[in-house]
Amino acid sequence: MDFNSLAELLFGDIKTTPEDIIAKYPKRNLNENAAVTRFAPSPTGYMHIGGLYATLISQKIAKQSGGLIYLRLEDTDKKREVAHGADEIINSLAGYGIIFDEGAAADGCDEIGNYGPYRQSNRREIYQTFAKELVRKGLAYPCFCTAEELDELRTKQEELKLDDKGYYGEYAKCRELTFAEIEENIKQGKEYVLRLRAQGEAGEKIFCNDIIRGRIEMPRNIMDVVLLKSDGIPTYHYAHAVDDFLMGTTHVIRGDEWISSFPIHQQLFEVSGFKMPKYAHIAPIMKLDDETKTKRKISKRKDPEASVSYYAKQGFPVKSVLEYLMTIANSAYEEWRMKSPDADMNDFNFSLKKMSISGALFDMDKLYSVSREVISKMSEEELFDLISKWAKDNDEKLFAYIDSNEQKFKDSIKLWKYNGKKVRKDVAKWSELIEMFPYLYSDEEIAEYDFDEKISKEDTKQFLTAYIDAYNHDTDNSQWFNDVKAIGEPLGFCPDIKAYKADPDSYKGSVADACTIIRVAVTGRRNTPDLFTIMQLIGKDETLSRLERAMELI
Ligand code: GLU
Repeated sequence: MDFNSLAELLFGDIKTTPEDIIAKYPKRNLNENAAVTRFAPSPTGYMHIGGLYATLISQKIAKQSGGLIYLRLEDTDKKREVAHGADEIINSLAGYGIIFDEGAAADGCDEIGNYGPYRQSNRREIYQTFAKELVRKGLAYPCFCTAEELDELRTKQEELKLDDKGYYGEYAKCRELTFAEIEENIKQGKEYVLRLRAQGEAGEKIFCNDIIRGRIEMPRNIMDVVLLKSDGIPTYHYAHAVDDFLMGTTHVIRGDEWISSFPIHQQLFEVSGFKMPKYAHIAPIMKLDDETKTKRKISKRKDPEASVSYYAKQGFPVKSVLEYLMTIANSAYEEWRMKSPDADMNDFNFSLKKMSISGALFDMDKLYSVSREVISKMSEEELFDLISKWAKDNDEKLFAYIDSNEQKFKDSIKLWKYNGKKVRKDVAKWSELIEMFPYLYSDEEIAEYDFDEKISKEDTKQFLTAYIDAYNHDTDNSQWFNDVKAIGEPLGFCPDIKAYKADPDSYKGSVADACTIIRVAVTGRRNTPDLFTIMQLIGKDETLSRLERAMELI
């Protein structure tokens, strides 16, 4: 067969050569060990937490080596594409501080970088140029098999119980078509795909030197896989080889669902004469299934927390999510964090070799505890800023509260942030604020009063009546406490805790019990941050009206 003529027959309109294209992608001016990594999503608009996780790692590997990360949009499957899907992915990652050094940009913005176009749909001519070259070398051929014919082939192979099922060897019907047959088919307007003419023998071994998993032995690819679909658009496999080669990717960091395709990729790089990048296949984030109690992948369908948008909606700060993802990404991270509690996350030296092979387990409780820690380190200004922004889009009630009196809201932050001089670690996400502190942020009336049954209803009422009568709002914390003591003492509440403990039977309770009565009446709860400050925050009228309402409902 004259492969040159075949190449012209199939790609007559392609005049560029691989050399022309390669010349447009010179080696970047980076130091020798600088890693060039990428994120290569399909623009489906859905940002999976695993995508953020992988991108974070790719960014880390690039940055710590003095390299760069770029965004390539794999938009060759138009069925999966969603309007503005790319924008959503770009914005969602930007929210997590992932700004690509090069790559596709949101709709209406120009791409950045000289190694594009970064949307695969704009690279058609590039793929075809390289495909034409493969045809010229006898390494690719057109296949006219219809879907029915391929089905038949599959059925036949199943009946024969073959280990290898697919389009290969003697089953590759179109592999040996003559030039005349191909020409005739094309003349008749038959659709065709372009297939690889697989090289090598069945049974040969190849190796993937995966950075995370080490050396993996695999069978050499024998399948005549599709390179270009009937519309001339490449498959993932072929686009991966062409793009990652041209764009100068040094490290392909991708999900481990691609490991099984590695032999195909190895062969595509080989037949194309492209140098292969390094590979790191990341295990997916796992979770313990609530029902079966077994480990499974976090799933878009079953788990709301699979979506990156979940965390924003819940009000987990970006820093918390990033910090948490680092703890599950690298076994050495937590230890490092313990030694350097205030260091910037970016100072951690990330090693792909320390990643789990079986998949990091996503543990919500751990995310909460990491987030409490992160939030406890935030300044009041940062808290004010983040919470206001979050509330604006996610919590009408809280936003109304903040909007009506910013200073009051700032003071309330102090209230739950500190316990005296100590920093509290109560809050893990902003949506907890109303739940945890309804007596501050919600105007709903208290539904249930959790008074201590140790004190009788009559005694509780009697104390509250006296307290309301004597209530002095314009005071300070220590005078306020003295007032409680003074009001409680004649009613049988011992002002001295030690004395009370020594002889509890002689009293109705202690000043602590008296405080609990006020606390429950004002907040509905027995445990709250500083009571005096709460009362100051909600104001005199509100305090008195709550005390009175509680009295009536006892
Ligand atoms: N578009 C592929 C995916 O979303 C990219 C895989 C890769 O990183 O090469 O899974």
